[in-house]
Amino acid sequence: MRRPMVAGNWKMNGTRASVAELASSLCEQDVPDQVEVAVFPSTLHIDLVLAELTGRSIAVGAQDCAVEAGFGAFTGEVSASQLKDSGCGWVLVGHSERRLVLGESDEVVSQKFMAAQSCGLIPILCLGETLKQRQADQTLEVVGRQLAKVIDDAGIEAFGRAVVAYEPVWAIGTGLTATPAQAQEVHTAIRAQLAAADSLIAESVRLLYGGSVKAENAAELFGMPDIDGGLVGGASLKANEFGAICRAAGS
Ligand code: PEP
Repeated sequence: MRRPMVAGNWKMNGTRASVAELASSLCEQDVPDQVEVAVFPSTLHIDLVLAELTGRSIAVGAQDCAVEAGFGAFTGEVSASQLKDSGCGWVLVGHSERRLVLGESDEVVSQKFMAAQSCGLIPILCLGETLKQRQADQTLEVVGRQLAKVIDDAGIEAFGRAVVAYEPVWAIGTGLTATPAQAQEVHTAIRAQLAAADSLIAESVRLLYGGSVKAENAAELFGMPDIDGGLVGGASLKANEFGAICRAAGS
């Protein structure tokens, strides 16, 4: 039985005051114990959010980490070991905004995944196709290639300490959501690809769906057999909405 998970990606949003308020409002939300919840504020706000969430069962992660796991001359970068030292337990790797806007290759994403794990962080590996790729019927090929790179480099055992998020790029921040059937089709393919390497690990890995998840569509998406929760952007900035999504994951 896989424990449902809901992750909130706050992206490059908020001031110290608004982020503190969001974190403290989250504490008032009623979230079922069986749902694992994590939020991903901007790196600058990680300390603040950790302090607000002290004693709560909401984990805090970062939205990215450097390829280099330790320390060194990498101006502007933040390493997985620094994130771990700051109290993070999780990190997103390969979010489509980083792949597409910042030009991160499959190779870089794979290195970040391994850097995160080498420091004891749990990576959420984001995969997804663009609208053009979906229209060209390349969805499974693209997602399969992104996943294969990490399986090849990190080994299938690494997925015993990772979460995978399928996020169709055309559904992120657009208000367009993959239908439950469209999402399930890709999640089935992801799990089958993992199972080809190790069926036990494949069965245990949580696969999150991301792309305009809201309170109103969460239950239907999370009701699909291979959707184990969500990675939520915009709707995670509203405590009530995010709380409702977390409750949908537990229902
Ligand atoms: C995301 O950025 O990971 C995301 C899923 O965003 P949104 O929920 O706003 O589509």
